[in-house]
Amino acid sequence: VQSEKVVIIGAGPCGLSAALELQAIGIQSLIIEQNSVVHSIYQYPTYMQFFSTSELLEIGGIAFITPNDKPTRREALQYYRDVSLRSKLRINSYESATSITPQADGSFQVQTVDRFGAVLVYETRFVIVATGYFDHPNMLGIPGEELSKVSHFFQEAHPYTGMKVTIIGGNNSAVDAAMELLRVGAEITIVYRGDQYSRSIKPWVRPLFESMVSKGKIRMLFSSRVIQINERSVTVQPLDADDSAPFEIDNDFVLALTGFRPERTLLTEAGAEVNEESTIPAFHPETMETNVPGLYIAGVIAAGREANEIFIESGRHHGKLIASHIQGQI
Ligand code: NAP
Repeated sequence: VQSEKVVIIGAGPCGLSAALELQAIGIQSLIIEQNSVVHSIYQYPTYMQFFSTSELLEIGGIAFITPNDKPTRREALQYYRDVSLRSKLRINSYESATSITPQADGSFQVQTVDRFGAVLVYETRFVIVATGYFDHPNMLGIPGEELSKVSHFFQEAHPYTGMKVTIIGGNNSAVDAAMELLRVGAEITIVYRGDQYSRSIKPWVRPLFESMVSKGKIRMLFSSRVIQINERSVTVQPLDADDSAPFEIDNDFVLALTGFRPERTLLTEAGAEVNEESTIPAFHPETMETNVPGLYIAGVIAAGREANEIFIESGRHHGKLIASHIQGQI
C-alpha cells in the first residue's frame, strides 16, 4: 500500500489542471491514467481544429501560444504534454483505477491495475475523479452496430475515398466529418433524428455546411433513424406522422457520431449520489466535493446526460476550487 496526499483519476486537461493547482499550493498529487496523458484529445479527428481559442484551454496559468486563431489537435497535444512534463506532474500512465473505497477513518483506498495486470493499492485522504467522457460513445443498440464497417469515432477522411458513407447524428462531430469527407469524393448521407439543423452547430461552420446540403453534395435526411446496418446497406426509418415505410440506402461505411456519456461506476461504488433523472452527481458547486467527504469531481464528469455543457473551457476551473478546499483541511 502506497501512501499519497491526493490521488487524481484521469490525466485529461481537467485532471492536469487540478494537479497543477495543488502543486501551486505545495501539494504533490499522483495522477492515475488508463491510457496516456490527454488521451481523449489524441482520439479526436487527426486534423481537428478546436472551437475554443488557445487561452481558453490554458491550465495552471501556463501560456498556450499559437499563431492560429484556434489551435489544432496537434498543438493541444503538444501543449498538455509539455505542461505535464515540464511541471513534473506525477502521472502513472497505462494504469486503470478499479475502485475507490472509503475507510472508517475518512480516508480512501484506491485500487488500480497496471498494464501488466498487477494490482496496486493507494491510501489517500483525497480523491479527485476527472475521467471525462470520450471513452463511452452513445450506442445505437441496433442490429449490425457491431459490424467492422461501423465506427463511433471519426479519425480522418482518407480511408473513405470514393466510398458511400452514412453518418448518424447531426451535431458538430457529424458536420465536421461530413465537410472533411467531401474532399475525398465520398458519397455522404447524414441520417439525423432532428427535424431541422441542430442549434449546437457552430455558427461559423453552419453556413458552409448548409450550402453543401443545398447544392446536393451532402444528402441530409432529417427526422430519420437508421434502424439496421447491413453488410452493403443501411435501413432508414422516417420518423414522420404518416407511418412511412423504412427504406434502404447503399452503404460502405457507417460513422455513428452520436456523442458520449460519462462513466460513473467508480463514483457511485464509492458512495457518491447520482441523480437518476439527470445523471448529474451530487456535488457542492463551490468545492466540487461530492456527498462523500474528500471525494471530488472535476471536468465533464460533473455534467449530466447533456455532457456538452461542461468542456475544457469550464472544467479546467474546477481544479482551483478543489485545491483551495483541500488546502483548508491539510
Ligand atoms: P453531440 O453534440 O452529443 O451530438 C450527438 C448527435 O447524435 C446529436 O445530433 C444527437 O441527436 C445524435 N444522437 C445521440 N444519440 C442518438 C441515438 N441513439 N440515435 C440517433 N442519434 C443520436 O456529440 P458530438 O457532435 O460528438 O459533440 C461532442 C462535443 O464535442 C460537443 O461539445 C461538440 O461541440 C464538441 N466538438 C468539438 C469539435 C471541435 O472543437 N472542432 C468538433 C466536434 C465536436 P440530437 O441532436 O437530437 O440530440
